[in-house]
Amino acid sequence: MTDSAATRAARLLHHRKAGLTPGDPIAAPIVPASTFHLPANGTGAYNYSRAGNPGWTELEAALSILEDAETVAFPSGMAAIAAALFACLRAGDTVILPADGYYVTRVLATDFLAGLGVTARMLPTAEYDTADLTGAALVYIETPSNPGLDVCDIRAVAARARAAGARVVVDNTTMTPYLQRPLDLEADLVVAADTKAPGGHSDLLAGHVAGRDAALVARVRDWRRLSGATLGPFEGWLLHRGLETLELRLDRMCASAQIIATRLAAHPAVLALRYPGLPGDASHSRVGGQMVNGGFLIGITLASAAVAERFLSACPYLAQSTSFGATHSSAERRARWGDAVPEGFLRLSVGIEPVEVLWQALDAALAG
Ligand SMILES: *Cc1c(COP(=O)(O)O)cnc(C)c1O
Repeated sequence: MTDSAATRAARLLHHRKAGLTPGDPIAAPIVPASTFHLPANGTGAYNYSRAGNPGWTELEAALSILEDAETVAFPSGMAAIAAALFACLRAGDTVILPADGYYVTRVLATDFLAGLGVTARMLPTAEYDTADLTGAALVYIETPSNPGLDVCDIRAVAARARAAGARVVVDNTTMTPYLQRPLDLEADLVVAADTKAPGGHSDLLAGHVAGRDAALVARVRDWRRLSGATLGPFEGWLLHRGLETLELRLDRMCASAQIIATRLAAHPAVLALRYPGLPGDASHSRVGGQMVNGGFLIGITLASAAVAERFLSACPYLAQSTSFGATHSSAERRARWGDAVPEGFLRLSVGIEPVEVLWQALDAALAG
């Protein structure tokens, strides 16, 4: 961890201190209010929860420490992504989207934005570094892409996008602000599904948008108020609680992923493996630069769909679920969602189980 990341982790744990008065709770309270006392002079900090509420203030203060930027909280990753797209795009614009990224983002563009006059151009993540970006109003990056784990150079793509007159939005879900900092690399906005590692316990949906252009972030905030994409007080409180252990969990998850990827790569049952942290991986060149480490996601290809499903059900320490970034390791066969991957391809999300116990279970299930 860099000094600044360590400082952010410590500040996050103590961010309430400066605002406390004697007798206040150390932990953030849950405030399930839709309305607030609003006498005629209307001077209160809050009036109606769709416009703002104490839970968002608390959560966004914590997220802003992580991002070093103003943040706007949303009820899911997709709500955050929709806000960023609607804040940036208008009829006649072209948006470049990753052909291999989170597929719901592409469906949102083709099923809704296209009808409003926005053209979506799909580009594989591995081609962002060289493709001609001319004509785009927005270049949307996801690196490493989910689930293929291809990467591109955020700073270089952002510079070329800007030269072409485009804004840049980065989906940073697979990395989190501890492992990759797109705003420091000249992105205009970062979007993230906090449903994944930031929440971290498979018990909430949430997302956020962050940025350093006050006018653009104000537009994202307006979108939330006008569209009504509002995060509930209980989910916001759970996410705030989850953020306190994010740095600690990521440390364990990424260190374990590096060990497990190394061993899986040498395993005879594994036909192919993607993990950016391994020196031979096509994405390795970005690790140590824009990526702090290889992350906690591993892509493995087993012989067939049947072999992959047998492995998933045989391993007692793999949750069989979609999504990733939780305390518990999980995996799924992505072809079941129609991703362009082999039938036996699994996305494995490494959790916080003690690594040798986890490895023995994975190894035994592969042998079975
Ligand atoms: C999960 C995910 C999303 C969507 O998040 P939700 O909270 O499910 O709406 C967006 N982008 C990426 C990369 C994701 O993995």
